[in-house]
Amino acid sequence: MEIISSYNLKELRGKFESLGLEAYRANQVLNWVYKRFKTDFRLMTDLSKSHRDMLAKNFKVHTLRLLGRSEASDSVKYLFQTEDGHIVETVLIFERDHLTLCLSSQVGCAVGCRFCATAKDGLVRNLHTYEIVDQYLQVQKELSQKIRNVVFMGMGEPLANYENVRKAIEIMVSSWGIDLSKRRVSLSTSGLIAQLRRMAEDELLREINLAVSINAPSQYLREFLMPLSKTNSLHELLNVLVEFPYPEDRRIMLEYVLIEGVNDSPIHAKELSNLIKPYRRKFKVNLIPYNPDPSLPFQRPPMERVYAFQEVLRKANISTFIRLSKGVEVFGACGQLRSKRLQHMLK
Ligand code: SF4
Repeated sequence: MEIISSYNLKELRGKFESLGLEAYRANQVLNWVYKRFKTDFRLMTDLSKSHRDMLAKNFKVHTLRLLGRSEASDSVKYLFQTEDGHIVETVLIFERDHLTLCLSSQVGCAVGCRFCATAKDGLVRNLHTYEIVDQYLQVQKELSQKIRNVVFMGMGEPLANYENVRKAIEIMVSSWGIDLSKRRVSLSTSGLIAQLRRMAEDELLREINLAVSINAPSQYLREFLMPLSKTNSLHELLNVLVEFPYPEDRRIMLEYVLIEGVNDSPIHAKELSNLIKPYRRKFKVNLIPYNPDPSLPFQRPPMERVYAFQEVLRKANISTFIRLSKGVEVFGACGQLRSKRLQHMLK
């Protein structure tokens, strides 16, 4: 079986032609799938019966199986299973006037941040483009309101799965696809320097929102929290971000997870302020009080400490926001999703 969301429009037109179908049938099918969120070929009434039968025999749209959902007042977590049995989590977040979907890009993650539960089992595999898009399609199918914001902040490091994430974003922002605004798609990375350089050259990806987990004001501390810093140094990361070709009116988001007694002191705040002050027009800072996980030895700082940290940055005229968790731990960092806990909840 071929999977529709493996292809962009051009590729699908070519595929259809190779099967003896007119190329424009691809536009019709994608219109059903991405605009009307109808994925049963038998219901695609502008196609002939023989075409519908042929498509149903050779193609499918969904590959993820919905195992269950867990609802909170501000979010719904979806637990999916891939065809080869892996668990993928997706979180729908209710914002004041819109919906945001937090997507996973990998099963597990190889980056190994010390404070992240996703890191514990290492990388299992990259998600395919169609598995990333299917997270959107399956959640959207349940809703009457269109999901207009997408964030790659679920399981995995999206830039380590560059090609598949890129094509999923192409499907999401193209007029023939889901047709989201590029400004409503955000990618959060741990700061893989080679991939950030590639992104800076990429006409599609450099127009989406970029968030980078910085989490420490010094190389020493960042190496402790994020071992990838040994080969992706803080200094080089800042250089790449400062050079990143962003329009003047947009800022890169620096994510800083505040962990009690580790990186949350006024001295850390001052160090961070000194580090980014020269480039403050380029960045804004999101402070994220840590969401503790029972399997990890880290705690969330008291809110007074969080406000004190923010104050130091604000005094340096650095735009700084505190992001209190929506979707429980979803926004703790890129990742920090905990499939084991969710599986338990669903039992
Ligand atoms: S925080 Fe993000 S990059 Fe770090 S290990 Fe977790 S999922 Fe991977």
